[in-house]
Amino acid sequence: MQGTEQDVILQLANVKKYFPIKGGILKHTIGHVKAVDDISLHVFRGETLGIVGESGSGKSTLGRVILRLLDPTEGEIYFEKQNISNLTNRRLRATRRDMQIIFQDPFASLNSKMNVGELIEEPLIVQTKLSKKERTAKVTSLLEKVGLRSSDRLKYPHEFSGGQRQRISIARALVLNPKFVVCDEPVSALDVSIQAQVLNLMADLQDELQLTYLFISHDLSVVKHISDRVAVMYLGRIAEIAPKHAIYHEPLHPYTQALLSAVPAVDKKKAREKIILTGDLPSPSNPPSGCPFRTRCPKVHDVCSQVRPELTDQGNGHFVACHLYK
Ligand code: ADP
Ligand code: MG
Repeated sequence: MQGTEQDVILQLANVKKYFPIKGGILKHTIGHVKAVDDISLHVFRGETLGIVGESGSGKSTLGRVILRLLDPTEGEIYFEKQNISNLTNRRLRATRRDMQIIFQDPFASLNSKMNVGELIEEPLIVQTKLSKKERTAKVTSLLEKVGLRSSDRLKYPHEFSGGQRQRISIARALVLNPKFVVCDEPVSALDVSIQAQVLNLMADLQDELQLTYLFISHDLSVVKHISDRVAVMYLGRIAEIAPKHAIYHEPLHPYTQALLSAVPAVDKKKAREKIILTGDLPSPSNPPSGCPFRTRCPKVHDVCSQVRPELTDQGNGHFVACHLYK
């Protein structure tokens, strides 16, 4: 799936998103939630970059900042080499067509008063000059692409199952022919048996339409299925990023190792020793000094509380932020 000449479609340089915490009767800013804290990464055209991490680690905020649904506090976002971090809404219009999002809960993201045809057609009315006839043709062909019937366009979202509703969301996200799609826990609300069907559909559509995915999930087994590379997030930072095989078979960061040890192994001989993480995720408004993971790390040592580990290159596209590796 990965482009041979490794063409970069998206690049982030030191991106931060801090949410102010207001307090007191005067509602002054008394602190910040550091939801995304200094993230640099790139996404190759045509690949799927998986983003995993516990709930609250900043995955959704990262996805929304990339799409400029939220403004970054600091840092630069380059989409197809254009710096979009400071573009006004008017100048973002063209880019917005190229970048779309699919959410976890299709119920919440679909307007229940519109029928399926109207829901999929809406972006075409807002963003294009296509005629009614052209729009209807596009809606019909997309419904078939996502495995629904063209007659389904007259029905309402509540008449469909969860998996079918997610197919409708996918059709709506793809109607403007985007290049890049943020998939934010797109199958997390679905039954396990349905998850694989929707993931397969998304993989087929990626090949057919040459899409690039940023695929967010708290579930390592979901990301494994679809990703080319995987980034592991912890408290707004990247702990480790590597090609999929390296993340699942040679994880370096103690946090990645702990996450993987919680996933049931298929092959008993390869079953990993279970690493139990103690304590909860610390608050992103008051992260630990040095390494953010040190308060839960089974391999913690002195330097970890003093120096923040930077992502370092371990070869073959494998980067880890941990003092055990230099
Ligand atoms: P994830 O998607 O990994 O579960 P989020 O990006 O949703 O994580 O959240 C990261 C952190 O930022 C959490 O502590 C969350 O409470 C906080 N957060 C997210 N959105 C907002 C917001 N609009 N205002 C304040 N805090 C927020
Ligand atoms: Mg989220």
